[in-house]
Amino acid sequence: DQKERLQKVIAKSGYTSRRKAENLITEGRVKVNHKKVTELGTKVGPNDVVEVDGIPLEKEEPIYILLYKPRGVISSVSDDRGRKVVGDLISDEIEERLFPVGRLDYDTSGLIILTNDGEFSQKLIHPKYKINKVYIAKVKGIPTKEDLKTLKKGVHHEGEYLRCVNSRILKTDPAKKKSILELTLQEGKNRQVRRMLEALGYQVEKLKRERFGPLTLGNLNPGEYRELTPHEVKQLL
Ligand code: URA
Repeated sequence: DQKERLQKVIAKSGYTSRRKAENLITEGRVKVNHKKVTELGTKVGPNDVVEVDGIPLEKEEPIYILLYKPRGVISSVSDDRGRKVVGDLISDEIEERLFPVGRLDYDTSGLIILTNDGEFSQKLIHPKYKINKVYIAKVKGIPTKEDLKTLKKGVHHEGEYLRCVNSRILKTDPAKKKSILELTLQEGKNRQVRRMLEALGYQVEKLKRERFGPLTLGNLNPGEYRELTPHEVKQLL
C-alpha cells in the first residue's frame, strides 16, 4: 500500500508540522487532484497532486534504496496492527516518503527496492516489464527432474497459472530429505514461489530473493540498505 494520510504527506514535504497540516485541511486550503479535501483521514498516493493554497507541494528529489529485508517485516509503508514495516528500517535522515516496489511476504527475506518515484515503481511492477527475479528456497523434499520441468511449464493454483523461467537444485540433503532450490521468475503474483512449490507438494521452509534484474544483495546483511547509483537506476528502466 503506497498511500499515506494527507496531513502526513504535507508535513513530510517540509511545508509545515503535522498539526498545522491538519488545520490547513480542515480550513479547506488543501486540494487533492484539484478537488478541495477537508477530511483528515484522506489517503493519497505518490501520483496524487496535492496543493496548498493552490500551490503544488514541492516535488521531492527521487531516491532509490536497495534494502535487504529481513524475515518478519512487512513490505508496506504502514501497518494497522503496528507490526514492523520496511520503512522502520530506514534512518530518519532519509526524509523522503518511501514505498516498496512490489512486495515480499512477511516471512520472505531479501532484495527489495524502496523509492518515492511512483512512475519508476509502476513501470517495474508492470507485467509486461519482464525483470528476472531470482529466489532461493529451502524446501522439504527433493524435487524430481520432472517437477523442475513442471515448474517451468507452469502450475495451476487457485485459478491462476504460475510459472517460472528457470528452476534448478542447488543442494540436496538426502538424509534430512531437504533441498535448496533456485527459481527465476519474471512474474510477481502473490506468494508465487511458495504457491508453485506447495502445489507440487514441497513445503517451503525459507525463502529469500537474491536478485532483482541486474541487482544483487552484494555484501549487505539483513536489515541493511544502500542507495542505488544513477547507473543502476538507468539499468532498471
Ligand atoms: N514468492 C513468494 O512466495 N513470496 C515472496 O515474497 C516473493 C515471491
